[in-house]
Order: sequence, then C-alpha cells, then structure tokens
Amino acid sequence: MLTGKVALVTGAGRGIGRQIALTLAQYGASVIVNYNGSKEKAEEVAAMIKEQGGEASVYGCNISDYGAVETMMKELVAQYGRIDILVNNAGITRDGLLMKMSEADYDAVLDTNLKGTFNCIKHISRQMLKQKGGHIINLSSVVGIYGNGGQVNYSASKAGVIGITKSVAKELGSRGITVNAVAPGFIVTEMTDAMPEEAKKQVADHIAMKRLGDVKDVAETVAFLASDRAAYITGQVICVDGGMSM
Ligand code: NAP
Repeated sequence: MLTGKVALVTGAGRGIGRQIALTLAQYGASVIVNYNGSKEKAEEVAAMIKEQGGEASVYGCNISDYGAVETMMKELVAQYGRIDILVNNAGITRDGLLMKMSEADYDAVLDTNLKGTFNCIKHISRQMLKQKGGHIINLSSVVGIYGNGGQVNYSASKAGVIGITKSVAKELGSRGITVNAVAPGFIVTEMTDAMPEEAKKQVADHIAMKRLGDVKDVAETVAFLASDRAAYITGQVICVDGGMSM
C-alpha cells in the first residue's frame, strides 16, 4: 500500500508515534523516525523495522524549533529526494486548571503541539508542491473538538491543529496534497498511563465500545490516510475514539 513512499513521523520513539512508524513500514514505506529526547527508543524502532525487512532511519529534532525543523527538512530531502508522507504526531501535555495554569505550561504545550505542527508543514510544503503530491496527517484530539476541564492549553493546541489542517488542505489541495487530522480519544500510552486504574475503568464505561483505545487503532487510520486509497479525502477530522465523543 505504501511501497516506495518516504514517510516522516514526528515523536516516533514512543507511544502512538512508534506504532505509526511500525505500521507505515509494514505497509512498505521507508520511515524516518523523529525524536526529541528519546534517541535510544527511536533507534530501537528503526532497528525493529529493519529486522522486519523494512527501511528506516532516525533524526533528532525538537519540532518546536522553527530553524531546526527547516534544517531537518532540507537534510531529509537532500538524503531521500522526497517526502511523501508527514505525520505530525509529537505532542505534550501540561495539565492543570485554568486558575492554576502557568504561562510557561501554556506556552510549552502550544509551542510543541501547534507551532511544531506549523513548523513541519511549513518546511515540507515547498517540496510537496514540487512533487505535486503528498499526504499530511496531523494528530489532534477529541478534546480539541469538545474541550476538557484541566486541559485549556492542550485543547487549544489541538483545536488549532484542526484549524491548520483545514486551512492548509484548502491551500494545497489543487496540487494533489491531502491534509487530514486524526482525533484520538483515550489511547493507552505513557501520556495516559499516569491515570489510576479505577479512573480508566470509569472512562471505559463511557465509551460505546467499552474499552480504551490501542495505539494500533490510531496507526491503522493514519496509514489509510497516508495511502492513495484516501486520495480524495482532505480537510477532514477522523475521531478514533470507540464512540466516546458521540
Ligand atoms: P507520548 O507517549 O507522551 O509520546 C509523545 C511523543 O512526542 C514522544 O515520542 C516525544 O518524543 C514526542 N515529542 C514531544 N515533544 C517533542 C518535540 N518538541 N519534538 C519532537 N518530538 C516531541 O504521547 P502519545 O500518547 O503517544 O501521543 C501522541 C500524539 O497523539 C500526541 O500529539 C497526543 O497529543 C495525541 N493524542 C494522544 C491521546 C492519548 O490518549 N494517548 C489522545 C489524543 C491525542 P521524545 O520522547 O523523543 O521527546
């Protein structure tokens, strides 16, 4: 499904990004595993892909750094000649009620989740325009659509990601470039691990499918949107939440 395609997945050493990298590679893409702090884990992911006969490399870059992302994209294009798939997965949380939220926690989340997404799209867009094609998939969240107490910074960033997705889809659509967002519900990763088991059970009770999400649930959706099977889908937000937000 993705044979011959080059894919960059941000924050792919851990969590959902790791599974996205593994899944895109399983479908035949050559995958660049981006990391910020987790170099060893990113190298582990690349090694797993190679063991399974796939192609992978790692690239360390803090996606909130505009200049560093520009350099990353230039170097990757020089190395690979093209980038067909960009998955903006990297994201952080700094939860807290509005009254207690610091400016630093607000800025950190917006810098990574929203500006990071902008940085990556901005610096790959020229190459995708030259190629006359590409698929961009941005990780939003159901809280970017519905909001969530204690996550003003995070939900603002993820709502912003939806705004970027739709606007860029309109700007780049005529050149064969699709831009979509995936909005996961509650997916079991380190980001959600901190929650007590009882609280997780309560969340599951409110999900139509009565279970929390698995990283594979998200990765398969991303893989579909990254393929030419989804060539006429753009500017959309696909909730992968087991029916949680209905
Ligand atoms: P996670 O387990 O906490 O992993 C976060 C990933 O983001 C790590 O690989 C991390 O890389 C990377 N990252 C953070 N800051 C970065 C930066 N400045 N530059 C590059 N990479 C950076 O999170 P997750 O649960 O897999 O979430 C992945 C995405 O899905 C996020 O955008 C998240 O908001 C979204 N999402 C998750 C859920 C959920 O339930 N888990 C729900 C909705 C949406 P390093 O370790 O290398 O720093």
